[in-house]
Amino acid sequence: MAPVTKPSQEKYDVVFLGGGSGGVAGSRRAASYGKKVALVEATGRLGGTCVNVGCVPKKVMWHAADIAEKVRHASSYGFTNVTGEPKFDWASFKPKRDAYIRRLNGIYERNLKNDGVEEHHGHAKLLSPTQVEVTTPSGEKYVLNTDLVVVATGGRPTVPKDEDIPGASQGINSDGFFDLEQQPKRVAVVGAGYIAVELAGVFNTLGSEVHMIIRGDTVLRTFDPAIQDTLTNWMDHTGIKFHKGSKVVKVEGEKSQGPLTVFTDKGEKVEVDELLWAIGRHANTEGVGLEELGVKLDDKGDVVTDEYQNSSVPGVLSIGDVQGKALLTPVAIAAGRRLSNRLFGPEKFKNDKLDYDNIPTVVFSHPTIGTVGLTEPQARKKYGDEAVKIYKSSFRALYFSMVEEEHKEPSVYKLIVVGPEERVVGVHIIGLGSDEVMQGFGVAVKMGATKEDLDNTVAIHPTSAEELVTLR
Ligand code: FAD
Ligand code: NDP
Repeated sequence: MAPVTKPSQEKYDVVFLGGGSGGVAGSRRAASYGKKVALVEATGRLGGTCVNVGCVPKKVMWHAADIAEKVRHASSYGFTNVTGEPKFDWASFKPKRDAYIRRLNGIYERNLKNDGVEEHHGHAKLLSPTQVEVTTPSGEKYVLNTDLVVVATGGRPTVPKDEDIPGASQGINSDGFFDLEQQPKRVAVVGAGYIAVELAGVFNTLGSEVHMIIRGDTVLRTFDPAIQDTLTNWMDHTGIKFHKGSKVVKVEGEKSQGPLTVFTDKGEKVEVDELLWAIGRHANTEGVGLEELGVKLDDKGDVVTDEYQNSSVPGVLSIGDVQGKALLTPVAIAAGRRLSNRLFGPEKFKNDKLDYDNIPTVVFSHPTIGTVGLTEPQARKKYGDEAVKIYKSSFRALYFSMVEEEHKEPSVYKLIVVGPEERVVGVHIIGLGSDEVMQGFGVAVKMGATKEDLDNTVAIHPTSAEELVTLR
């Protein structure tokens, strides 16, 4: 169903700017309460970052990499016809992955239509808190009048300027990763956060030579030290070449002509076929008319909101990545739904809002990581050394009992508890299956579980997860 090309209403109850995780979820929830809702999406493809260039195609690639690992283990499990290095055909797999994403775009479009959300295709700009100007791809302009506006324009990757790092523009970012038609033989990944770790892991596991250029000594420096150390050591063990305490100062070469040479401030030269910048993201606020209206942005350029997603201008609200807190799809979705509950739902929802504390999250590294709550340093700072107790276990998942020593991935599980009641304030796990284990423990922490509650839960055997209820 094609988007509409002019307003169908004199006035809408609410217009959502951006058709990503937050905008789609919030607009559908608003429409479910019988409201007149429009959503404006610039690209014409619904689903935003997560569906098009984020969680979904990333997880597909993680699964491909996971299969490569399993193939490497197959002979240890007695398979005699699965030998040698797995060969991944990136070029023929990519169109299949893209087709799946296009199917999802269509499903999102149908869902909007079925729920009565009017989709507009174009760039949205606020003329006033009650007027949204839409500029269509062909340059036509029209205005949607509305009572409320929700800014859900998300973010995009940060890439250094050529003035700061000559040749930086020869690199790609995470969006470019999903455009790659061929698997590069050699890659340099700059950055140490979620995206750097996940994409470097995919490349490495699928057989590319991977260099990680990181400013510190470990990856994921905002995570618990046990997670940082375990993952950095294992990535090193699996062949990723770390350039620690290093910054890129120059990039020479042109990709269309041949390899790139990446120079670091430590005097190293790294020759690669692709350079991938994964040094963070920033909010899409340019050209949205926010500053002109006096909508307050913080130093990083994120929209400042209160706990009810209100911006500094009455009637203009904001959800998801553009407001800079916990850049995760379920966060954008939950914020959007709760906002619409509060604005348009029944009385019981009149104070509905998202609680940004204790949000569980997973990193799709190899092996995966799950985490919720405070890290050990955060807990010690907040509660004092005396109050904090750590329970920790390092082990190998049973699965690895049959595989060769070099493939035996580590598992480290860590609980951080505080006070005499030993309330769990942090759970940090790395190891096979951590991505699937984490959700339930996220519930427990949100409910205020104590160590005793975990002890009173009978283990499920044989699993890795059982370690969390048997820690001593
Ligand atoms: P977006 O999804 O970015 O949507 C914003 C939309 O607004 C876009 O479609 C954009 O085109 C549109 N837009 C922008 N400006 C305008 C305008 N002026 N007018 C009209 N439309 C406009 N999160 C997870 O929870 N799990 C993961 O595994 C995960 N993996 C990720 C992997 C990668 C590589 C990346 C980059 C992100 C990942 N994320 C993951 C984060 C997740 O994608 C984001 O948190 C989520 O998409 C944010 O949703 P949003 O609605 O705020 O913004
Ligand atoms: P992150 O904030 O996770 O990481 C960026 C990292 O880049 C920083 O930790 C920093 O590490 C490093 N960095 C920053 N500036 C520079 C610089 N100038 N030069 C070199 N390194 C630099 O951002 P990402 O882009 O990886 O991801 C954005 C967000 O998207 C994540 O925070 C997450 O919320 C979300 N996301 C979620 C995923 C999931 O749920 N699985 C997957 C992917 C993304 P250091 O300080 O150590 O140098």
